[in-house]
Amino acid sequence: MGALFFKSAKDLSQMLAAKSLSSVELIQALIRRIKDVEPKIQALLSFDEARALRYAQESDERRAAGKLRGPLDGIPIGIKDIIAEEGQPLTCGSKILEHYISPYDATVMERLKAAGAIPLGRFNLDEFGMGSSTENSAYQKTRNPWNLECVPGGSSGGCGAAVCAGEVPLALGSDTGGSIRYPAACCGIAGLKTTYGLVSRYGLAALASSTDQIGPLGRSVVDLGMLLQIIAGHDERDATSCAVPIPDYSEAFNTEQRSWRIGIPKEYFSEGIDGEVYRSIAEAIAFYRKKGHIIVDISLPHTFYAIPVYYIVMTAEASSNLARYDGIRYTHRSAEVMNARDIYFKSRAEGFGSEVKRRIILGTYVLSSDHQDAYYVRAQKVRTLICRDFSQAFNEVDVILSPTAPTTAFKLGERLDDPLQMYLSDICTVSVNLAGLPALSIPCGFSEAGLPIGLQFIGKAFHEQELLSIAHIFEKEHDFNQRFPDID
Ligand code: GLN
Repeated sequence: MGALFFKSAKDLSQMLAAKSLSSVELIQALIRRIKDVEPKIQALLSFDEARALRYAQESDERRAAGKLRGPLDGIPIGIKDIIAEEGQPLTCGSKILEHYISPYDATVMERLKAAGAIPLGRFNLDEFGMGSSTENSAYQKTRNPWNLECVPGGSSGGCGAAVCAGEVPLALGSDTGGSIRYPAACCGIAGLKTTYGLVSRYGLAALASSTDQIGPLGRSVVDLGMLLQIIAGHDERDATSCAVPIPDYSEAFNTEQRSWRIGIPKEYFSEGIDGEVYRSIAEAIAFYRKKGHIIVDISLPHTFYAIPVYYIVMTAEASSNLARYDGIRYTHRSAEVMNARDIYFKSRAEGFGSEVKRRIILGTYVLSSDHQDAYYVRAQKVRTLICRDFSQAFNEVDVILSPTAPTTAFKLGERLDDPLQMYLSDICTVSVNLAGLPALSIPCGFSEAGLPIGLQFIGKAFHEQELLSIAHIFEKEHDFNQRFPDID
């Protein structure tokens, strides 16, 4: 069965139910694991051990009193350090928020706590979610547990590496252009980007408000479903949150098999895709065909524009969202200030890293009155075409299958000096965010070098249950999510 720290949340929940394990014992085991592997992995930014143990104690007491709050009661969840948690640091991976302590809980944190789940540690990320490798964190470079010389993907790379390395069974990340799915693919775990509006963004520090979503990372799609059940649902504190009925996601795993129509978009298999990635995805397609599902060749013709459109829309939104970090209120303030202007200029110059500055400048440029028609307005029009591609495809198919990324995890430093190369890591993921759709990544193979390969499913809006169900068909019959890295 393997080590305790590599067990799925579902297995751990069953062990807690069978009383073969207490929540306090579980947290203690994970604290030991974290101490063992963190010097190498560097995924964790801060961790309130005493509080986690206190929560675990309370969960054990509820269990003894027969007052459990649900299947994740007593189960630890890692949190990307961009989701506000009362009384805890919220750095967003940035020096500008180095000493900031959140005075309130994000809605997802309230829901986790109400379900008895235990927030366990705040995990590293690219500064404000800007990046694909977690190297843009102002604090530390997180390593890929499969190969310590490689990046874990990003921007939720701390969460991805932590789940992969056995530091925590489940985590909450955020995905603006691929930041849950890409680290999931690089680390060989499962990750779900939820439909825009399904999960409240209240308390998620904003990168691009029209594409940001919170979602789960875990060892299996079953675990993702358990966490999604808690966090999904309307919240009146987020004006973009939708009042849709929330299904019982666990039904995704026991319904009668039906035959799915699976679309294969040719644009996702063009140049730039690595041979080993191509082969693994082709094997996954063959698997579904053999199981009796219908494979349909489709086209998403505007895919080619997704990266430029995303990097215009996202930088525009980021530049205005980040205006709040001004040195006046809760952020870093430069010690060198002589006047009001200095407060803004020097504090922001010192507090933000170079990628953040690049995006603020780009975003301000595409929104400037001379250029907004040429860039921002035009990008929004092409965004509509990208959305239309998906709606047309979904007239023909139930779900779309593609690689999560064209290559496996790259080496640390390899793309750091070339932002365009870094941006291309998102080529298979950003369209989904522009269209507000749900998408999931699961491991579907390993390269010769031993690095995981991610398989992506894209679904219709609010059809997370279908994605979980289709991915589960694959997961059940493969052992890719039962392989664990040897971190020596
Ligand atoms: N890598 C993309 C970016 O740099 C996506 C980031 C994200 O999803 N937060 O913007």
